[in-house]
Amino acid sequence: MRARDTPVPAPSALPADRPTDVLVVGAGLAGLPVALELARRGASVRVVDPADPGSGTSRVAAGMLAPVTEAEPDDPDHLAVGRAGLDRWAAFAAGLAADSGVEVPLHAAGTLALARDRDEAEALVRFADVCGRFGLPVERLLPSAARRLEPALAPTLRGALSVPGDLAVDPRRVVAALAAALPALGVDLVTGAVERVLLGDLAGGGSRATGALLADGRELRAGAVVLATGAHPVAGLPDAARVPVRPVKGQLLVLRDPSGPGLVERVLRFGHGYLVPRDDGRYVLGATTEERGFDVATTAWALHELLRDGFELVPGLLDLEVQETLAGLRPTTPDALPVVGPAAGVDGLWWATGHHRNGVLLAPLTGLLVADGLTGASRTPADEHVASLVDPRRFAAPAAPLHPPVPEDARA
Ligand SMILES: Cc1cc2nc3c(=O)[nH]c(=O)nc-3n(C[C@H](O)[C@H](O)[C@H](O)COP(=O)(O)OP(=O)(O)OC[C@H]3O[C@@H](n4cnc5c(N)ncnc54)[C@H](O)[C@@H]3O)c2cc1C
Repeated sequence: MRARDTPVPAPSALPADRPTDVLVVGAGLAGLPVALELARRGASVRVVDPADPGSGTSRVAAGMLAPVTEAEPDDPDHLAVGRAGLDRWAAFAAGLAADSGVEVPLHAAGTLALARDRDEAEALVRFADVCGRFGLPVERLLPSAARRLEPALAPTLRGALSVPGDLAVDPRRVVAALAAALPALGVDLVTGAVERVLLGDLAGGGSRATGALLADGRELRAGAVVLATGAHPVAGLPDAARVPVRPVKGQLLVLRDPSGPGLVERVLRFGHGYLVPRDDGRYVLGATTEERGFDVATTAWALHELLRDGFELVPGLLDLEVQETLAGLRPTTPDALPVVGPAAGVDGLWWATGHHRNGVLLAPLTGLLVADGLTGASRTPADEHVASLVDPRRFAAPAAPLHPPVPEDARA
């Protein structure tokens, strides 16, 4: 059996038949911050998941909080959402540490984006130009300057870009802190798999979410239901309320330096890969991007590619121990933006998923957006704009036209 990474939640304190204000389905880095933020505002909240908190994709994530290097900087929508996510992190980490007693250190050494050949060096120059036009703080570095900052980099390095604003965090530490904070705030953590959402009829027509039916037959009743099941679909929803989320597989390795931290200080990005240092001598080397449905096998091919690319830039990785090989499923929408907000067509049903490569970055923002929406809190125009970009209803089937078009052959 796999060792547990997070404290085991205390047994459920509330009788399962007592309704709560909100039921959150899924205890990953989308669902847990939603529960946290709602509980802080006085709502009674229950979270249900068949597994330990954070043992889905959130357990696999590298933990980069990197809106600039993750988004194409000339894509204003992704950048707006990512930067709104990063802006929330410092306060979130401090508040979470206060609520849980678990420190959540932010790794603030920044990112170096690296080029291994002429094509990658030219791509870095283009990236720097676009960042400059959007006012994003990046600095071009000669390979020699990059190697002074990170002496472990290979002498074959062709170019580098410093991105000072990016942060990183250990996602498992975040989950551990959330799992400690939630019971202390009165949140009920229930073990169980939701089979389908329960719907009730509204007097004036339409339906309302009233809770969920679990696979073991229990019913969890609630005034609102938040679906945060990552890449996994949930049954029992009308077509209009569904969202087009698919799994995008990512594989990575966790390496460990037995002599402790210090081989590399900054997050390194190269091609499609990255190396993320933890503060205890571990390094996350990732990641693949694969369309393979719900397959989470780790493959020799992927590990070979990741290690080959990593060694090319940081030869010292050869001396490290392989601690883990992991695969996870990024919950991904067609426009790669999350779905956070009310579902179409069902009152009291909310989505919090589709975070793709940025579920850690967007964890605090997700909690705030759902809690603001459910409690009717006012938003700044900037937050309103971000909420509109991630609104699940952008994927709802267009309503049937009031006057269907007149067929061609019936026109005068
Ligand atoms: C290789 C890799 C690297 C990544 N690196 C980063 C990174 O550096 N930075 C970043 O911001 N993001 C990163 N991500 C993305 C991030 O991991 C995800 O966006 C995020 O973890 C999604 O969180 P989630 O809560 O939506 O999903 P999950 O963590 O998968 O949680 C969903 C939960 O729902 C539960 N569930 C499913 N079905 C049901 C049901 N029927 N009933 C009850 N519960 C159910 C599951 O058991 C699970 O616990 C990475 C992803 C991968 C794969």
